[in-house]
Amino acid sequence: MADVVILGAGISGHTAALHLRRKLGRGSEHTVTVVSPNSKWNWIPSNIWVGVGKMGKPDVVFPLEPVYRKKGIGFRQAKAVALWPEGDADDPRGAVDVEYTGQGRAGTTERIRYDYLVNATGPKLRFEATPGLGPDGHSLSVCTADHATEAARSLTETIERLRAGEEQTLVVGMGHGTCTCEGAAFEYVFNVDHELREAGVRDRARLVYLTNEERLGDFGVDGMTFEEQGFQTSSEMWTASLFRERGVEAILGAHVTKVEEGVVHYETLDGEFHALAFDFAMLLPPFGGVGLAAYDAEGGDITDRLFAPSGFMKVDADYTAKPYEEWRAQDWPETYQTPGYDNIFAVGIAFAPPHQISRPRTSANGTPIAPAPPRTGMPSGVMGKTAAMTIYDRIKHGAHAEAHRASMAHMGAACVASAGADLRTGSAAAMTMMPVVPDYARYPTGRDLAATRGEIGLSGHWVKLMLHHLFLHKAKARLGWQFIPE
Ligand SMILES: Cc1cc2nc3c(=O)[nH]c(=O)nc-3n(C[C@H](O)[C@H](O)[C@H](O)COP(=O)(O)OP(=O)(O)OC[C@H]3O[C@@H](n4cnc5c(N)ncnc54)[C@H](O)[C@@H]3O)c2cc1C
Repeated sequence: MADVVILGAGISGHTAALHLRRKLGRGSEHTVTVVSPNSKWNWIPSNIWVGVGKMGKPDVVFPLEPVYRKKGIGFRQAKAVALWPEGDADDPRGAVDVEYTGQGRAGTTERIRYDYLVNATGPKLRFEATPGLGPDGHSLSVCTADHATEAARSLTETIERLRAGEEQTLVVGMGHGTCTCEGAAFEYVFNVDHELREAGVRDRARLVYLTNEERLGDFGVDGMTFEEQGFQTSSEMWTASLFRERGVEAILGAHVTKVEEGVVHYETLDGEFHALAFDFAMLLPPFGGVGLAAYDAEGGDITDRLFAPSGFMKVDADYTAKPYEEWRAQDWPETYQTPGYDNIFAVGIAFAPPHQISRPRTSANGTPIAPAPPRTGMPSGVMGKTAAMTIYDRIKHGAHAEAHRASMAHMGAACVASAGADLRTGSAAAMTMMPVVPDYARYPTGRDLAATRGEIGLSGHWVKLMLHHLFLHKAKARLGWQFIPE
């Protein structure tokens, strides 16, 4: 009998839990337990629509416990705080310390033993990296459904002021030079643009996209090359045309140093410092690992052995520091197994990337200003399923069964950035890339031109809406969920 513990019930952890339970069979002796501090699942991509008031929080979340009960998956509403990968003085099996946040046990702790562990804890939203950043400071966020609800409320007030004839400056973007998730800010800025137009107040609004990308269309993946009827174009040109068409200003290569009431301060790559007054600001935070500690059986601190300084967990990547020119697709992990432990995996945002994908840059003052690598939904789901399949094989065929593999240097990703959630007037900028991590040894442009595309139009919006319903159906483990790809 094997006990599998999955930390995190987001895209990667929830996917891992559902697939593992399906493969092991509901009535099997093996246990699958999910530990997560939130009682609800959130389809995070649709928080963008919550953030402009087109959807409410109930449209993007649902309670996890009934799904887990139905599927025979254990659920602890708790946050993991420490790992004991070699066991402790009482038991040689690995263990994880958790602190309850619900289920009537808030604040109490428990040590849960495991045979296999999946760390799918996602990001810590590091608002504290920039003074004044975030909903507890002076800017808004759409990272959680609650943050997005607050952003929508503030946007409504801004639109009211515009209707009353006032001019307003709205800033959307990245709240630190090392942020990731530029695609989300890009999508939000165009949704805001759409709302302002629908309200008939766009002419009085200054809309600014403030980003750590050195050029538009970088998206943390060093940009893309698209080919259309034999002509190649860059994602920079494609994106810049969208900005021009919709009158959205872009401030590039920016590291936000401080947010004050109504003023964002930032440094740019040329080393200059600037201040921009705003009436509405949605600025994403940089991400870090959630800060798990790790101990050996004697209680010695081995956190550094399992985790990178960023708090993300080390896996089977090549972490050797090397210059940009020497970065290779092969540096990226394939199995998500933690070195030294063939029963621990880290998937989704929780694993430590070997390096950036975007070219690293620093300002003239030496401040790092470059996007961190994105780990979007599709790769996160695929990694969760990959770890689940490896664990299944090891439970069924022994601990030496080969690991399944899924590298971001072979995986594609789709980013459908909607620009307004309306079936008739909505639109979307849809991008697909293959692979996420460019491989210049295989493709002259780093990516497969046949599978790396950018399209703009209403159909992209329909795709985004369909994905919203499809992924909620899948996450609720409804009929046929397993046939919906990650
Ligand atoms: C606003 C926004 C829009 C986005 N839009 C898109 C999009 O359109 N397309 C796309 O592909 N991607 C999008 N993304 C990215 C996508 O949401 C992530 O790739 C994905 O959620 C990562 O999955 P994950 O499982 O690693 O982390 P998450 O989905 O964040 O899940 C992490 C889980 O771990 C739990 N957890 C946290 N701490 C602990 C702890 N200590 N112990 C146990 N559990 C813990 C959390 O509660 C959560 O359940 C967007 C992201 C944002 C912020």
